[in-house]
Order: sequence, then C-alpha cells, then structure tokens
Amino acid sequence: MTMNRRLFLGTMAAGSAILSAPMVLGQAKPRVVVIGGGAGGATAARYLAKDSQGALDVTLIEANPIYTTCFFSNLYIGGFYNFEDLQHGYDKIAAGGVTVINDLATGVDRAAKTVTLAGGQTVPYDRLVLSPGIDFREGSVAGWSVADAEVMPHAYKAGPQTQLLKAQIEAMPQGGTFAMIAPPNPYRCPPGPYERISMVAWYLKQNNPTAKILIADPKENFSKKALFEEGWGRHYSGMVEWVGPDMGGNEIEVRPGSMEVLIDGEVTKVDVCNVIPGQVAGQIAALAGVTADSGWAPVDPANMRSKMDENIWVLGDSSAQGDMPKSGFSANSQAKIAAMAIRGDLLGSRVFPAKYSNTCWSLIAADDGVKVGAAYEPTPEKIASVESFISQTGEDAALRKATYEESLGWYAGITADMFG
Ligand SMILES: Cc1cc2nc3c(=O)[nH]c(=O)nc-3n(C[C@H](O)[C@H](O)[C@H](O)COP(=O)(O)OP(=O)(O)OC[C@H]3O[C@@H](n4cnc5c(N)ncnc54)[C@H](O)[C@@H]3O)c2cc1C
Repeated sequence: MTMNRRLFLGTMAAGSAILSAPMVLGQAKPRVVVIGGGAGGATAARYLAKDSQGALDVTLIEANPIYTTCFFSNLYIGGFYNFEDLQHGYDKIAAGGVTVINDLATGVDRAAKTVTLAGGQTVPYDRLVLSPGIDFREGSVAGWSVADAEVMPHAYKAGPQTQLLKAQIEAMPQGGTFAMIAPPNPYRCPPGPYERISMVAWYLKQNNPTAKILIADPKENFSKKALFEEGWGRHYSGMVEWVGPDMGGNEIEVRPGSMEVLIDGEVTKVDVCNVIPGQVAGQIAALAGVTADSGWAPVDPANMRSKMDENIWVLGDSSAQGDMPKSGFSANSQAKIAAMAIRGDLLGSRVFPAKYSNTCWSLIAADDGVKVGAAYEPTPEKIASVESFISQTGEDAALRKATYEESLGWYAGITADMFG
C-alpha cells in the first residue's frame, strides 16, 4: 500500500492520539458529546464522526426528533416554501457513525464530566459541545411571558410557533393590523424580523391588501435597513409603519388578553402580535455554568472553546465570540473549526488557523433577494470581520433574482452539510 497524504495524516492522527490521550488496549475511544442538533451541533457531530474515521465516540443529544429550520421559515410565512421543506431528520447523521439520543439534556456536571438527560440517563464525555441555540429573556417585553406565546407567538424557534403565526396571519380580518415587537440586540438572525415583515407584507398584499403592519423597534438601526425600507416602499407602499426608539419603539407594553399594543402609552388594538423578545444562550449553557452576565457564553475566538471550561466548546447563537452574527451560516462555519480543534485536542490531528464566514440572504418580495456577508478571522479579543459585502439599493431585477436563487442553493447546501 502506498502512503498518500490522507493516509499519512490518518497515521499521524492515530499515533498522536496515543501520545496526547494515553489509552491502554481495550479502553474506550475518546468521547465527544454534542448537545443540540441544529446548525452548529448537527454540523459538529457529523464532521467529528466523518473526519475522525471512527477514532472518536460521538454522541448527539437533541430534544426533538425532527429539526425545523428557522432559516427560510419566513419564506414559509410568505408562501414560497412548504412547512415540510423546513424539516430534517437525523437518520443520515446516525448512519454516519453518530449515536443520536432523542432527549432533553437537563444538566451538566463539569467535575464528573457527565450530562444528565430528562429520561434519567447519564452520558459521560471527554469533550462537550454545546450548541443549544437561544432562550428568551423573561420580562424583556412588558406584559408578555413565554406562556403568552400561544396568543402572541414569537415564532423565533421554528416549528409549531411558525405554523401558529402563519395561521393567525391567514385569519386576519380584511383591513386588520399585524404588529411586531422587534428584539433588542444581540439576537438570532439580525435581518430575520425584517425579512419576516417583508414576507407578511407579501402575503397580505395578495390576500388582504388593506391590512396594516406596525413594527415597534427598540433599535435605531437594523440589518440591511436601507434595503428593506427601499423594498417596502417599492412593493408595499403605505402598508408598513416602523416605529423606532425616537417615537416610543423602546417603550412597549403588550396585553395578550385584549390583543393590545401600547407604544409609549398609546393603545393600538391589533389582530396579530408577533413578540420577538430579548434573548440569551440556550438554557443548558447557563445550567452548565459557561455563560457570563450578558447571558451568552464567552469563547476563544481561535476555536470556539469555552473560556470557562477547557473541556467544553460553545457554538452558534449561544456563544459570545465577537463580530459574527447569530446565524445558521455562522454556526455551521464555527462548528467545522471546533470539530477540527477537538480532533486536534483528542487525536493530535493537524489544526489549521481558523477562518470563518457568513452570508445572510433575505427575500423582500418574489425574486427580490438581498444579502449581507463577511469573512472573519480570530484576533486575541474576538472573531473579527476582515472583509464584508452588502447588496446595494437600486440594484436591477436580474441581480436581485440571481441573489434569491443563490439563497436557494445555500439552503440546499447547508442542510446537506448539517444532516448528510
Ligand atoms: C425567522 C428566522 C430566520 C432565519 N434565517 C436565517 C437565514 O436565512 N440564514 C441563517 O444563516 N440563519 C438564519 N436564522 C438564524 C438561525 O436559525 C440560527 O442562528 C441557527 O439555527 C443557530 O444555530 P444553533 O446551532 O446555535 O441553534 P439551533 O439551530 O437553534 O439548534 C439548537 C438545537 O438544540 C436543541 N436543544 C436546545 N437545548 C437542548 C437541550 N437542553 N437538550 C437537547 N437539545 C437541546 C434544540 O432543540 C435545537 O434543535 C434565522 C432565524 C430565524 C428565527
């Protein structure tokens, strides 16, 4: 057998595994447990198993048997995607050598290096990857708590909430009002609320053209603001009213019982109210004790390793890493860097300098797609943007259509990369 580069690296990896993690014959392989089978966790589990070629024992713990992507869930609301198109199972990840456990992780014992599950099981690890997404900051919108999401949905974790929001929009009376309470920074998917407004407006323009959309926003500025405002003016003239902090967008109360929104004390009766509250790291990150006062988990910009525990990596939305937006693209990019670093750590395989990337596409109307993105590199302090790009106002229809088509390709690509 001739020694090619891959075999050579594989031999190196196996050799250094024995050096860096001494094991006696018959001892189990190093165990990596991943909590959260979304953009970060599914990618990490898949790459850890695939690239270690059986040298690691990889377990993925995911609460839901089916993952529904938040990405493109706004297109479902607009009628461009079916709900089933957003759903993905874990069969291929399991077939790729990952042990998939369908259960909720309820605790992490960092001293014992174990994860406890709602079902009662205890799962030991040598390295733990946390990619649990987001949870909501109770009290961030006066009058609203997570229990009110059945009346005023957030639809910011995709699934039944997304279906509920769509059903409510479809049931709006002619000329009714859709309200959104937009979130404070930082939050998952910076353009997400505004793409959602575009998709709601698209639906209403076809089915309820005298309806109104009201956005109360605590932020002065938001992602791709000029592009969205141009698009709303062009496609949905007179339908969308954005109320920023100057006009009371940061002085909000909602009353789920009477379907009222109070902006700076002024009461508006609404038919649908989409409350997107303030956010923090997925709860298991806090339970593991790896979050800071900010509610997010600080990580080493070079490899996504927790700054609080060298045996833990935190990916995606839950992490506090610097300039990267909380997006599926970012989580997927970070997961590959983390998987490489963990293999280096446990198996001694070669670790290359980290390069991260992100692009966030948004659909404003049929064939009117825009995007923003950047390349990132670690500095000692943070993951820093080194090169960025953004769609321009006034672009022609052909370019916007091409941008939308690019986003379709991205969705197919990232879901294949996550789920196999
Ligand atoms: C409306 C909307 C539109 C978006 N559009 C885009 C887009 O176009 N492009 C883009 O890149 N991003 C987009 N995003 C953002 C993207 O969805 C998130 O940034 C991304 O999913 C983050 O990945 P993650 O791995 O951190 O979390 P997630 O993908 O949310 O995965 C977390 C997983 O962990 C599981 N979990 C959590 N806690 C536990 C536990 N204790 N035990 C077991 N399992 C647990 C959850 O069930 C979930 O499956 C959008 C988001 C929204 C809301």
